[in-house]
Amino acid sequence: MKSKEEVVKEMQLVVEQMRLDDIEENPDCEHEFFTCDACGGTKSLAGSVLYGHHRLCNDCVLYAEIGFELGQIKDIHELIDAMEDKRLEADCEFLKAQEKSINN
Ligand SMILES: [Zn+2]
Repeated sequence: MKSKEEVVKEMQLVVEQMRLDDIEENPDCEHEFFTCDACGGTKSLAGSVLYGHHRLCNDCVLYAEIGFELGQIKDIHELIDAMEDKRLEADCEFLKAQEKSINN
């Protein structure tokens, strides 16, 4: 059983690789933007993923993949619903803080 920290680290690599692959395949996509269905931000198409009818930005894909891996969410609607919730905002802050500590 992987720890949450291991899952986060692993998924960061996977999701970053998706973004790099997208840019390699289509360099223009880094400068093409869409509105993310989860966070509502205007984000680069590079590294975004279409889950059913919902396109998520690279940042939200990371949360989604971590959520799936840890069994916290079963489908993408749960993430989208949860993104509106203050509680998950705190979770996201936690992940961001962790991202920083990994990069340093
Ligand atoms: Zn997003």
